[in-house]
Amino acid sequence: MIEYWLQNGDAYLLENNLEPEDIPSEFQIRDPPKQIRDILEPLLQNNGKATIFFNSYFGQFRGGKARFKESKTKTCSTCGNKGADKIKGWIFPFIIDKNKFPNLYPHGKIESLNLCRNCAVRSFAAYHNVYFTAQRDYISFVIFYSDTPKDLNEFLKTYAPKRVSREYYYNWRAPDRVFFPYEYLATILNEISENIKIETEIFEKRTGALVFGVSVRGNKKIFEFAEILSDLSEFINIFQIFKSKHTKNPFYQLFRNLRKGKDGEVKPDLFIWRNLFFKKLFKYRDIDWNIVENILFYNIRERNQTPPFLPSFLLSVMEVFGMGDKELYEKVSTLGYRLGMETLRKELGKNIEEANRDEIDRARKKLVQRIYELKRKRTLEEFLDSLNTLQLSAESEIDDRPFRENEKIFYKLKVFFLIGISNAAFSKRKEKGGDKNEG
Ligand SMILES: [Zn+2]
Repeated sequence: MIEYWLQNGDAYLLENNLEPEDIPSEFQIRDPPKQIRDILEPLLQNNGKATIFFNSYFGQFRGGKARFKESKTKTCSTCGNKGADKIKGWIFPFIIDKNKFPNLYPHGKIESLNLCRNCAVRSFAAYHNVYFTAQRDYISFVIFYSDTPKDLNEFLKTYAPKRVSREYYYNWRAPDRVFFPYEYLATILNEISENIKIETEIFEKRTGALVFGVSVRGNKKIFEFAEILSDLSEFINIFQIFKSKHTKNPFYQLFRNLRKGKDGEVKPDLFIWRNLFFKKLFKYRDIDWNIVENILFYNIRERNQTPPFLPSFLLSVMEVFGMGDKELYEKVSTLGYRLGMETLRKELGKNIEEANRDEIDRARKKLVQRIYELKRKRTLEEFLDSLNTLQLSAESEIDDRPFRENEKIFYKLKVFFLIGISNAAFSKRKEKGGDKNEG
């Protein structure tokens, strides 16, 4: 972890032609020298006032002095140089207490984790590259790393979103409120995928990200979350493939509907599914199908819709990770849609175009009940039985071979089928045969 953090500091120093010696070892945060102000600028609001992040890490030094003083008897825990000071929380934001994580100590029996002056400045400079957002006292933050500090600079300058609008709770704002680090990272990666127009060098560099979640209570910071993610290029690829299937970037609409609640609501549990969805994606390069099903049925129940663009995003993920036959999933989704439309028609006793709104609402409610029945079927046989009943009542027949022939991936196929049939339930009256979610 410390290498990646220090690389961010090195990147800043390199970009600004600074040597660690250029920065005074003693200064006040309230009235800092220019070099320090420049480092901390992205952590301040546009009006120069403190942000929640700044307050959490440097607040206690306001008016006082944040001092760093080398002692000849101490050795730097990072580079091994003689002459160091005990590490301070405001210099290195992670573990500084050896009682908590003794195995982080690189030299065995030492009394404290120390940094030499160079490493302290490198560590402090790393703050410059932090992206953060917060809800109440919970801060999510992200930094990147690459092969070298120079590559990292290239990446930050060329592709990473600019932190131009900075307010108390964020220095880069996600397109929807976010609570947790993985959902925050997803919005940043989407932005990066916008900035990369063609296949570029970043796909050759091993650029990764570090994501953190921190609870702040008074002066106490509790890391609830710290993760290193390698090679972002696959994820950026997913966002690009997803985008390329649609005329406008559909990310925001997708993203917004992956969470619970209304626009203004910010309870943490409204954001948990979305964070878990992206966690599974970024950490395990996989899809959490249970979460997908939860999100689908939340949207059906609370929003009278299927989550816009969800199948398209899932297929983009599956394409990049080679997770199976795209045509098969699309076919199953279409089967679901067709059976849904047939069921509606049968229920109405006429074409949807000829029915009035009340009639459609009634028919739709019945179809949604059927969809819930299908959802509850956990085995292939139960599911096919239920599907059979539905076909009989709709006087319609669909080809269920895709399920029979692919029992191993039944749980995935089921999700696509449920999305398809739900699209029928919520399709708009005027649209014929189309999928209102265009994906
Ligand atoms: Zn050092």
